[in-house]
Amino acid sequence: MKTFGDTILLSASDVMRFAGCQHATAHDLRWMRREPPKPREAGAEAVILQGKGDAHEAGHLDKLRADGRRIIGIEGNDLVRDVGATLAALREGPEVIYQGALMARGEGAAWGGWSDFLERVDRPSKLGEYSYEVVDTKLKRSVTAKHVLQLALYSDLLAEVQGVHPEHIHVELGTGKRATLRLVEFAAYARRLRRRLQGFVASPWATRAAPCADCDLCRWGDACDDQWRAEDSLFGVANISKVQVAKLEAAGVRTMAELASLDRVVRGLSPSTQGKLVLQAKLQHDRKTGEPTHVLREPEPGRGYALLPRRDPGDIFYDIEGDPHVDGGGLEYLHGLWCGGEFHALWSHDRAGEKEALRKLLGFFEARLRESPEAHIYHYAAYEVTALKRLTVRHGIGEALLDRLLRERRFVDLYTVVRGAVVASEDNYSIKSLEALYGLERDGEVKTAGGSVVAYERYRDTGDEAILKEIEAYNRVDCVSTEKLRDWLVTVRPAGEWPVLGQGSADAEESDSARKDREHEEEVRRLLGEPGEDKVRRALLDLGLFHRREAKPAWWAVLASVDKQPEELEEDLDALGGLEAMGPAEPTSTRKSVQRRYRFPPQETKIRAGQTVSVPTDGFPDTVEVVELDHARGEVLLKKGNAKAHLLADRLSLHPTGPLKTDVIRDGLRAVIVDQCGEKRLTAVDDLLARRPPRLRGGPVADILGGRDPVEGTVDAVLRMEGTVLPIQGPPGTGKTYVTARAILALVREGKRVGVAASSHEAIRNVLLGCLSALEEADLPFDCEIAHKVGEGEDSYEEGCPIQRPTSNDAAILSAAPVVGGTAWFFARDEQAGRFDYLFVDEAGQMGLANLLGMGRAARNIVLVGDPRQLPQVIQGSHPDPAGLSCLEWLLGEASTIPPDRGIFLPVSRRMHPDACPLHLGPGLCGPAPEPPRHRQTEGWQHPLPGGRRLLGACGAQRPRPDLPRGGRGHRRGRGSAPLRALDRQGRR
Ligand code: SF4
Repeated sequence: MKTFGDTILLSASDVMRFAGCQHATAHDLRWMRREPPKPREAGAEAVILQGKGDAHEAGHLDKLRADGRRIIGIEGNDLVRDVGATLAALREGPEVIYQGALMARGEGAAWGGWSDFLERVDRPSKLGEYSYEVVDTKLKRSVTAKHVLQLALYSDLLAEVQGVHPEHIHVELGTGKRATLRLVEFAAYARRLRRRLQGFVASPWATRAAPCADCDLCRWGDACDDQWRAEDSLFGVANISKVQVAKLEAAGVRTMAELASLDRVVRGLSPSTQGKLVLQAKLQHDRKTGEPTHVLREPEPGRGYALLPRRDPGDIFYDIEGDPHVDGGGLEYLHGLWCGGEFHALWSHDRAGEKEALRKLLGFFEARLRESPEAHIYHYAAYEVTALKRLTVRHGIGEALLDRLLRERRFVDLYTVVRGAVVASEDNYSIKSLEALYGLERDGEVKTAGGSVVAYERYRDTGDEAILKEIEAYNRVDCVSTEKLRDWLVTVRPAGEWPVLGQGSADAEESDSARKDREHEEEVRRLLGEPGEDKVRRALLDLGLFHRREAKPAWWAVLASVDKQPEELEEDLDALGGLEAMGPAEPTSTRKSVQRRYRFPPQETKIRAGQTVSVPTDGFPDTVEVVELDHARGEVLLKKGNAKAHLLADRLSLHPTGPLKTDVIRDGLRAVIVDQCGEKRLTAVDDLLARRPPRLRGGPVADILGGRDPVEGTVDAVLRMEGTVLPIQGPPGTGKTYVTARAILALVREGKRVGVAASSHEAIRNVLLGCLSALEEADLPFDCEIAHKVGEGEDSYEEGCPIQRPTSNDAAILSAAPVVGGTAWFFARDEQAGRFDYLFVDEAGQMGLANLLGMGRAARNIVLVGDPRQLPQVIQGSHPDPAGLSCLEWLLGEASTIPPDRGIFLPVSRRMHPDACPLHLGPGLCGPAPEPPRHRQTEGWQHPLPGGRRLLGACGAQRPRPDLPRGGRGHRRGRGSAPLRALDRQGRR
């Protein structure tokens, strides 16, 4: 932000900062006028980040040069002059413009800046037969909202020059991958935010400093810290949340001192939460003039001291140092281990070293725990375990051992123990702050984790071994401090039984699941042997382990949730915190189980009646059933079998359940692996894994569609498939459902059985309704039965819809209907093997490759329909490629569109003129918002109809069909169910 003549020049950084914290923008404005406070200098870590970002950008430039791309660089730092040079470059039309400068005047402010790269694309514009799209380099592993804001600004500025909006924005990520997003999906949001920033700059409204994710790297951090201290702000109370501050302030409690002496009820806070906050504030308030103190918290099952095991001579105290700035996802450069009075340091400085250090570390754990079966691994906060999960997946070693250690609850997070066991007088619960309680004083050069990263970066630049010694000394103190904290906790522990971790009542069930996991993994490894350089076998191995890896985060989420404090859970949508029993547990009518009613404080939650949820135990979390949940009254009724009635404790919190069961898909996938390791009878799967072009009767062709109408060309192609896979790629609005439905019915006419799969029942329903709609068309005069295998409560069809919707896998219609829809859980079943001639997979950009392979036995041919640029598949775990890819991403590889000899690409997004849009939804929905209607063409792909009429692909909006009876065939809802309108030869309706 700076003055620019008589106006203010705003940049992408300004809008990104405004999106994060408006108070920072208010400071920026004041500082622009040279009013205090003064910003602090960029910290060492911020400088490192800047340097890494610059290096990443330079690396991408080098790559472009090495690829022989024609590049014009705008080498300057005078915006106005550079804008002129950029305009000249745009007119010249090189493949890439580096550091192109863009600027435009808005209302009351100008916008401008330098984009990293502008890339030429074959899309006509004012410049000629080409235009440009914006590419930015970012160190992150995925695109964030702030990246989108930046790219959307540059795209809008670019559009001013070239007269056409870029269709895509691109981010070259720190992982080496490129993320491509459709601008139209974000442009309106970005523009609204920019308008809001302009409004703020013109007439700033009052803002306040409130801690947020941006504070760590904010240049106004010192000013805000000073302000919070001076105001005795509630934000200074350790572990208080913004929501709690808001509730307290609404009740007139504005300072820590006021909270410390609060003796009335605050609306919206449960009595226990309020009690803890008041105690925390009081201890901190007294500490300002006194000694460090603590108060023990009330014991609760599965919390605090219930998580602290008896001391054992073999106990290990463990701390990791990691550098997130090392290329390719960071580097865990030091594992420090303190045990039996000895310190062990495992260093690594590159990826191979990291793997070796991990191998040694896990070997150390295994040997130590074999010698001392009662020992535990103590650490402080979640980083160590999170890093180990990441490392074992990254290097493909030790996953089973880590799983076992986690399930045995060998890792003891002392931060979780402290939070549940004591209230401390310190203003935060970092281990350094708590050292005041047990009297540890630090010295040495490196004093913080951030300092360790900075020091390690210095070592990487200089190779100075003395720096490593400093880091090691720091890490050693952290490990020793962890032991001292554990000992202090043991000293102040109330008398009572020691908990036995990892042997809870649900452990037998969990062990059974663990045993199945292990057996599955062993079999997959036995089938595939050591893949070596065999890429397909390597891919099959990773795909075979997909479901196991995918399930882990859900288990970890349960364990992480159980570790949270009740007051934190009250703000966690996946949980329900602060339950207090309203009376004793009562037997149910069957007398086989008991029910207990609880009251809970006001909070939002996704938990619903009928769900099974997790509850803490001394061991692995167990489950209870939610019988009733009444938000208005704040009451919940829980049920549990008599044998485990004790789980319905007086005070309780409810947590998410574990992962979805995927045994069926996993078993289907294993059968596919057996086939691919032997006869390869599943030729479509073989083609898919080898990424071969589709094998069509008549031999390979250079262009499968061959310039034909998409329906005609697609029908012809699917009829000629010979046990192979055919991708059909089409962005939104290109009529995929229309084409798919007609291809399916053409196959049915030829006596084929067709399965329709997708990741969601909604997508399957959309295709099946498309088939129903196509059956009504005059040019398709035949009928066929359609069935959709739905789950209980998943039938969202209108009453009277002729599509049959059995909920049982054994329903006869599922064996008889020519067209059957279902998810991977249906098509992966043994009894579906070989039951279909074709499997159409809709929204294949969201269908994981592993799930598709799980269904691979169901049909001889596979047709994948979708657009990998739409929302990606939702995955939870970390997977090596290709296991983490959707099936379309896998088939496309590096290509952004499917080559014509490898599949069918439906024409891109040349959407219906807004005037012709069925619902007149306006440009934001019917087509890219930036282009005014007069520039748009009424020209999507066309399909001839009897009587010289033709059909146009259009947006997926639904048009009501008043001419058809409600509940009849034509009465439909959902995306894309009525994407077409008939126009005559002159384009009139
Ligand atoms: S330190 Fe935090 S609250 Fe203060 S201006 Fe920066 S981001 Fe906003």
